[in-house]
Amino acid sequence: MILDTDIYFKSNSYNTSLEIPDNCPVCDGKMQAQLTSKDFVFRPHKHAQLIASFLCPICEELYMGRFSVTQYIEDKRQVIVELECLYPTTNGIKLFNEEISKISPMFSQIYNDALNAENQGLITICGMGYRKAVEFIIKDYLINCKNEDAELIKKLELGRCINEKIQDGNIKLVASRCAWLGNDQSHYFNKHPEVGIDILKKLIDAIVYWIHIESIKDEALLISKA
Ligand SMILES: [Zn+2]
Repeated sequence: MILDTDIYFKSNSYNTSLEIPDNCPVCDGKMQAQLTSKDFVFRPHKHAQLIASFLCPICEELYMGRFSVTQYIEDKRQVIVELECLYPTTNGIKLFNEEISKISPMFSQIYNDALNAENQGLITICGMGYRKAVEFIIKDYLINCKNEDAELIKKLELGRCINEKIQDGNIKLVASRCAWLGNDQSHYFNKHPEVGIDILKKLIDAIVYWIHIESIKDEALLISKA
């Protein structure tokens, strides 16, 4: 994506084009970023830079871009810049749809804490976070969508919640594998060393997908024939 803009220096207006990735560095969503500020930074012993901030319309987070000024074309009042880096540099947030947030407000927070740990290279502990996120989405699904007794579900082991309480075959299958892999991430002995965190995350995406589909189906069932 290229954003053309005017930028002022010593009372003169210059035209510049800011080329940035199409995807937000925070939520990874494809979007049209909104340019919210831009400024030259002049340094005595180094090249000038242009610092710009952008707003992502999807996650509504701000991010910064640092551009090096590679050329001034004085007669055209034009400045050529090149993107050096964006802050934050890693995806920090995974957005889940509204239905999932309603069913389990804690799931998204725990998942994103684990993702944050993973993005910071804390790969030996982020898996435990994903395991905890699975426990929250499954238990909150049973309590809030299936009217299971909250006190009972809170105390019941995750494996038993999945095997004994989940009726939907798709959710049950994926959740059981998630629990196995999640336990591997939390215990001394890894029973599935060949399966990595990426697969665990893929399975969590599938749980979220099936729960979301089920909530849409439940909504559809409320519509009666006129
Ligand atoms: Zn975003």
